[in-house]
Amino acid sequence: MITLIGLGPMGQAMVRVLLENGHGVTVWNRTAARADDVVAAGAVRAETPADAVSASELVLLSLTDYAAMYDILGKAEDALAGKVIVNLSSDTPEKTREAADWVKARGGRFIAGGVMVPAPLVGKEEAYVFYSGPQEVFEKHRDTLALIGRADFLGEDVRLAQLFYQAQLDIFLTSLSVFLHASALVRSAGEPVAKFVPYAKDNFGMLAYYLEDAAKQVEEGEHPGDEANVTMMGATADHIVQASRDAGIDVALPEAIKSHYDRAIAAGHGRSSWTSLYEIIKKD
Ligand code: NDP
Repeated sequence: MITLIGLGPMGQAMVRVLLENGHGVTVWNRTAARADDVVAAGAVRAETPADAVSASELVLLSLTDYAAMYDILGKAEDALAGKVIVNLSSDTPEKTREAADWVKARGGRFIAGGVMVPAPLVGKEEAYVFYSGPQEVFEKHRDTLALIGRADFLGEDVRLAQLFYQAQLDIFLTSLSVFLHASALVRSAGEPVAKFVPYAKDNFGMLAYYLEDAAKQVEEGEHPGDEANVTMMGATADHIVQASRDAGIDVALPEAIKSHYDRAIAAGHGRSSWTSLYEIIKKD
C-alpha cells in the first residue's frame, strides 16, 4: 500500500499510474470530492490525514507548497514515526531542509522530489523526477518512485531536488515570458505570432548548443570574447529595450537583461564573452 496526499492534477495522475501498476493506494485530500474519481478507479479514501499516513510506510505528498504539508501532517504528527515522507511539492530549498528536520524530529524519514513534467506526462517515457535525501531510504523505494517517471537521485543534501527543480523552472518560466515578450514585439507591427514561431523554435533549439561551453567558462571563470563580446551584445540589449518602448510594450524583462550587460561592462567585462555576466549574477 502507498499513501498519496494531495489530489490536484499531479496527485491524481500519480494515483492512476500507481494503480495501473498494481499498487494499492490510499488517498486523502482537503477537498474530499477531489478524491472521487481516483476512488472510483480503485484508490482507498482515508477519512483523516492520520488515517492516510497510518495506512502505508511510503507517503507521497503532492501539494501546492510546503506550508500545506504542515497544515496536513500537523494533524497526523503521532502517525509519522517510521514513515517515509516523499514530498513532491514545489517550494524553496531552505523550506525543504526545514521540512526534512520537522519530519525527522517526529521519527519519520524525508525525501524531497521535484516532478519535471505536467500531469498528462506523469508515468510516461518523458517523465523524470529529481530526488534528494537519505540515499538508503531512496533506494528502498526507487522502483516504486520510478513508476512516476525516471528517478534521478541527486544526493543526500535534501535541498538538491528542489534546487534543480527551481533551476529548471527558472529556465522554463523565463523562456515562456521571453517568448510572450517577443510575440508582443512582433504583434506590435500587426504581424501574426504564427509567422514568427518557426524562427523562435530555431532559436530555442540553438540555445542548447551553447550550454556545455558556457558551463566550462562559468566553472573556470574564463570568458574569452573573441567571437562576440559584452559591449556588442549590450548594445543589442539596449536596442531591444528601445524597440519595446517604441512598440509601447512592457520593458521590465529587456531592462533586466540590459542591466546585466550594463553592470558587466561597468565591471570591466566589455571585451569578454556573454558568459562573463555570470560574474555579475552570482553575487558571491
Ligand atoms: P495544485 O496546486 O492544483 O493542488 C495540489 C493540492 O494541494 C490540492 O490537493 C490542494 O487541496 C492541496 N493544498 C493546497 N494548499 C493546501 C493546504 N493549505 N492544506 C491542505 N491541502 C492543500 O497542484 P498540482 O497538482 O498542479 O501540483 C502539485 C505540485 O506539483 C505543486 O507543487 C506544483 O508546483 C508541482 N508541479 C505541478 C505541475 C503541473 O503541471 N501541474 C508540473 C510539475 C510539478 P484542495 O484540493 O483541497 O485545494
